[in-house]
Order: sequence, then structure tokens, then C-alpha cells
Amino acid sequence: MPSNMNIAFIGSESYPFVKTGGLGDVMYALPRALSRDGCTVRVLMPLYNCIPQKFKDQMTYRGSFMMDQCMDGRAFYVGIMESELDGVIYDFIDNREFFDWGNPYTGLWEDIPKYCFFSKAALAALNFLGWVPDVVHCHDWQAALVPVYLRTRFAGTPVGAARSILTIHNLRFQGICSIQHLKYWSGLPDYLFDYPVFKQNEDEANMFKGGLAYADRVTTVSETYAQEIQTSFYGEGLAGHLYYHRAKLSGIVNGIDVEQWDSAADKLLAAPYDASNVLQAKRENKRALQEQLGLEVDEDKFVIGLISRLTDQKGLDLVNAVFTELLDDDTQVAILGTGDPRYEGAFRYYESENKGRVCAYISYNEALAHRIYAGADALLVPSLFEPCGLTQLIAMRYGTVPIVRETGGLKDTVLPYNEYTDEGNGFTFDRYEADLLADAVARAKALYLKDRDRWNEMVLRDMEKDVSWAVSANRYLDLYRELKDME
Ligand code: ADP
Repeated sequence: MPSNMNIAFIGSESYPFVKTGGLGDVMYALPRALSRDGCTVRVLMPLYNCIPQKFKDQMTYRGSFMMDQCMDGRAFYVGIMESELDGVIYDFIDNREFFDWGNPYTGLWEDIPKYCFFSKAALAALNFLGWVPDVVHCHDWQAALVPVYLRTRFAGTPVGAARSILTIHNLRFQGICSIQHLKYWSGLPDYLFDYPVFKQNEDEANMFKGGLAYADRVTTVSETYAQEIQTSFYGEGLAGHLYYHRAKLSGIVNGIDVEQWDSAADKLLAAPYDASNVLQAKRENKRALQEQLGLEVDEDKFVIGLISRLTDQKGLDLVNAVFTELLDDDTQVAILGTGDPRYEGAFRYYESENKGRVCAYISYNEALAHRIYAGADALLVPSLFEPCGLTQLIAMRYGTVPIVRETGGLKDTVLPYNEYTDEGNGFTFDRYEADLLADAVARAKALYLKDRDRWNEMVLRDMEKDVSWAVSANRYLDLYRELKDME
């Protein structure tokens, strides 16, 4: 059913302007999918200095104003720069005092004022532009104050008529600071801080917690994660709060933009391919990858890719614990990531000890990511927790078999291989244990080396799996409609 709704996306990053992880992908792909379904979508995000100049050159100035921000009435400049991309309008909130630093994040102490300002400025910008959305769809802790502002400082203004959704992409980051700091920078009424809604404890406030309480609906990016976060292990201290609000909490799994991730039209690949020539093309892409990364060029090696922020969340202590066990003469590992120096150092060490078999590319590199998705045989995602995870979806779309832990969106998107029925998309393990990870890799490797026909069938199944936004965008549309019809 076509839709004529107006939706404002408010969040801290969006591909292609600035992306540090999955949030950036979703902020790009979901608005595009909704716009194709007939919605008018505006994305509001900060005008960071680190946005490439070529995008800044395409922006036009829509206006500016001064806005009261802080508890003492301290005011700041809000500029609005606009551009359009594939039917989606992007409004960038300009203020050099806040957005000239970082890539785009700095540290929590600076980021809290920055995103208090951003959340309020985004709503003020919508009023300034005279565009009242049916729904403001806010993302993660950086935009968590939007639902709170909407019902307090902006109640009675035009944008105050909008409904709000807050989507949890990752509950680990919540925007916690002293009550004084948040009171001052948010400029929110004092009484809000007297209730448990915002309080983390006697001294601290929690922005995400407040947003979750005030939003009309809360979503997270997979059904399993929606359940998991109501338990103490995954709830990051908010399990009780989320359980209390469970009636408005649901999980909608992410898709990927199938044009952004299209192996047939991917100019970054040595040999673009679709399902009809994947087996031959993947061999060529593997050779090109091995050459680029200084791995021994041999198309029969089992190449495992790992593309990830190098943090505890991603299960890297498991990888570290069994790394040497995973390596043998048949296996190569290509790692692409940055993050915790502990893991960067460990992977660099493995590379130096295993030249030609291991490459640790410690960097953020979009082009190399595409080449690993295409050239690797398997992609390892052994996360401790994973709200949705995009890398396993991209891998499947590129005919690369995921090896994942059964948590969050990994569980919802990767059907485990069943050797009796020949069904499934990848290899999985359940408990967070290094031996189980090693076992899953061994099972994958055995199939690859000993039963290539069945392996190849899985590659084709993966390529044919629908990982697009089609189904999930419709689920968001249903939610928007439900909110629009609410009294
Ligand atoms: P998260 O958002 O927790 O980092 P996701 O799996 O949701 O994890 O999304 C990760 C996204 O970031 C994917 O598009 C992946 O390809 C990309 N990515 C992660 N690390 C790198 C890197 N070092 N270089 C290039 N792309 C990366």
C-alpha cells in the first residue's frame, strides 16, 4: 500500500556522509527504502567537520537562528544546510563549536553537550522549516532526548504534534553523566530529574533511559535482541526499565541496501558477479585479495574474513583464545578493523608470526571491506552480543558463508547448516565459549575442503536469500501508521 507519510529521521551518523558502523548504514538505507514506498523522509544529522568536502559543496543554506539551550539560558547558533540524495532530504545541523571536532565522536564528556544540542536543534529546525512530520524516528542515545524534548519544551509547538519512535541500535552506549551536567546542557525542566525516569543512580542521569520512557514506541534491530535486552546479561543495566516498557517494545530486523551492496555492479571488485557465475568469480576475487593483502596466492585455501570494530562486543577474546588452533596449512585469515589496542596488537602479532597466512589490516577501509566480502569463503562474527549485525547479511549477499554466534540478529538471520537436510545459510554456535567457536570453524572448513558441492550449494542459497529492506521497511511503515492513527 503506498504511503504518504512524513517521517523525520534523527541520528548521529549516516552513510555516505559519515559512518562508523551499522547505524550509519541503516540511516542511509531505511530512509531510501521508505522514500521508494512513497514516504517523504528528511534525515537530520550534525554537520560534522569530517564530512567530505564534496558533500559539503552540494549543500544549500536553508537558514539559521539562535536557540536557548542550557539551564542558564545560554544560547547557540543553529544553521541548517540541506542536500538531497536519491529522494531523501538531508538537513545538517550546523554549529562549529560542537561539530568541528571528532570523527565524529570524541569522548562522553564533550559528546553529551553536543548531542543535547543536536537533539533540541533538530526539533527546532523542523519548526523553523515549517515541516511537521507524522513521526520522528530517533536513533540511539545520541537522539534519545528528542522524545523528551518533544513532550516538554516542544509541547504546544507545531512539531509537538508528532509521534516518536526510539530505535536501539546498541544498548551498550547510553549517554550517562552526572545529573548536574545533563541538567545544565539539556536545559530540561528540573522536575524530570527527580524521578527514576532519568536517574541512573543518586548522582548520575541516563539519556537513553529517559528517551526510552518518553518515546511512543521503542524498537530494536532484531526480535531476539528485543527479548535479550530484557534480561540482566544483555540489558546493560536497563533490563528492568525495558521490561517495564515492554508493551511498546518490538524488534524489526535490519536489511541492507542491495544497491550499495551489489556484487554484480560492484566496481571495487576484481570480478563482479551474480549467482550465475559466483563460483568462478569468487576464485578470481580471492586471488586478487590474496595479492593485495600479501597472502599466499592459492585459490584452494579456505579464506576466513573478519570485518569488525575491534571491541569486546565482537567476540574477539574468543578469536584470540583459539587463533593458532584455527590456522593450519589450508587456512588463511583476513582481518579488517580498528579499535581496542589490545586486539589491534594481538592481530598484528599473529600476522608477523604467520606471514602469508594472516593479514591484519588495522584501519577503516570501505573498499577493502567490499573486496573481503567478495574474496573470502567465510566471514566470522562471533559476537558476545549483536543487536542485528550487518556484516553477516552483506556476506550472504556476496556468497560468503557466515560463521556466527547465536545471539541477537545473528540468530535471527543465519539459519544453521543442517547436514542431514542440506538446509541453512551458515555455521553457528550458541554458548560464548572459544571451543565452540573453534568447532564451528572446523565444521565450516571440513565442508569446504571435503564436500565442495554442498558448500557451493550453500553459497548459492546465501546469495538468493532476501536480505533487502523490503520486508522490514514495511514493518516500520505499519508502525508509523499505527502511531499516526493514535488519538
Ligand atoms: P556495528 O554497528 O556494531 O559496528 P554492524 O555489523 O551493524 O556492526 O555494522 C558494521 C558496518 O561497518 C558494516 O557495514 C561493515 O562492513 C562496516 N565496517 C566495520 N569495520 C570496518 C572497517 N574496518 N572498514 C570498513 N568497513 C567496516
